[in-house]
Amino acid sequence: MGGSIFLKVQDVQQLLEFDRTGMIEFAKGLGEKPFRATQLFRWIHQRGMQDFEHMSDLAKSLREKLSTTAFVQPLPLLAEHRSKDGVIKWLFDVGQGNAIETVYIPESDRGTLCISSQAGCAVGCTFCSTGYQGFSRNLTTAEIISQLWFAEHTLRQQQAKGDKESRVITNVVMMGMGEPLQNYTHLVPALKIMLDDHAYGLSRRRTTVSTSGVVPMIERLGLDAPVALALSLHAPTDALRDELVPLNRKYPIAQVLDACRAYLRYAPRDFVTLEYCLLDGVNDQEVHINALIDLLRPSKGANFPCKINLIPFNPFKESGLKRSTNAHIKRFSDALLDAGLVCTVRKTRGDDIDAACGQLAGDVQDRTAISARRAQGKVIPIANALT
Ligand code: SAH
Ligand code: SF4
Repeated sequence: MGGSIFLKVQDVQQLLEFDRTGMIEFAKGLGEKPFRATQLFRWIHQRGMQDFEHMSDLAKSLREKLSTTAFVQPLPLLAEHRSKDGVIKWLFDVGQGNAIETVYIPESDRGTLCISSQAGCAVGCTFCSTGYQGFSRNLTTAEIISQLWFAEHTLRQQQAKGDKESRVITNVVMMGMGEPLQNYTHLVPALKIMLDDHAYGLSRRRTTVSTSGVVPMIERLGLDAPVALALSLHAPTDALRDELVPLNRKYPIAQVLDACRAYLRYAPRDFVTLEYCLLDGVNDQEVHINALIDLLRPSKGANFPCKINLIPFNPFKESGLKRSTNAHIKRFSDALLDAGLVCTVRKTRGDDIDAACGQLAGDVQDRTAISARRAQGKVIPIANALT
């Protein structure tokens, strides 16, 4: 219900919706100069200010105009969970029975925020809890950036660092609920706000979009906001990837790898992270290791700089899948390293509060009937599909 505040209120504008270009346009409509928009933008994103009355360097006349034409309202918080290892998971209301999750992962040298881009996800990967829930809707730019606004300013206050502007969040990964490149229109302005020195000033290499492989949008992202790119590969052959990541049926591996290579033209000196979630007996066998090494040979598909990130599967009850054993994970990673590939194993964080990769499930009012089809057994269980 709280999410309804995000719906268009006649003539009153949610300012979290705007990147700086949008804010300048909005200010122009109020008869204000661009530098006023930048001041306003800094108050909102750098200082976390919602109340125009306290924006002391804005003229009183502008503050009055803003109070009748605009508002700054983050998503309503439904719940907060803190894990033993310092991970925090927030559940936000996005209206009409939908809720999304955001995860903060502190490390000694950085603070990473994992942000959601959709309520649910229509891709339906068989090992992902969000995929099991089906899809409700895209988040707006305001709803995407609200997650960063809330986390940054809440943590700053809690950590009471003295310096009101010192940043807590240094890295953002678009790896929460949803497929960011299926919500491109709202994603790009949100990325621009993250990167803007007048807002969060994140480095483009510390801002990552992870995608299951929406080929046409990969190249567009290179043009519009060339941040770090992660591709959810998860299988070395089309036959297996078709089952694990159903979008592969539309954009097969060769096309996706071509798009990654093209992307790096816009992000020079970068590399693409290839995510590979290790599922016991499904994609972690000798035959998969060999096929992956073959696929990533410079003479074959991935003749561009890439790093493989092995993700131990985080189980959830509906999937029927299991995490590969530690011995298997080690064997997989050693074999890739021996073949001269760059490979790391992702550390699992926050699993005691279901905040680890692929465990985010919020609340989704499925409008695609994926969950109902699964319940009726109309979606082939993964174990059967592979045999
Ligand atoms: N939709 C995007 C981003 C969100 S998922 C994508 O698929 O890339 C973020 C990462 O978590 C992806 O690499 C995804 O494959 C991985 N993931 C999903 N479910 C998982 C699970 N149960 N255990 C481990 N990783 C998982
Ligand atoms: Fe969607 Fe990513 Fe989950 Fe696949 S892994 S269902 S693309 S959120």
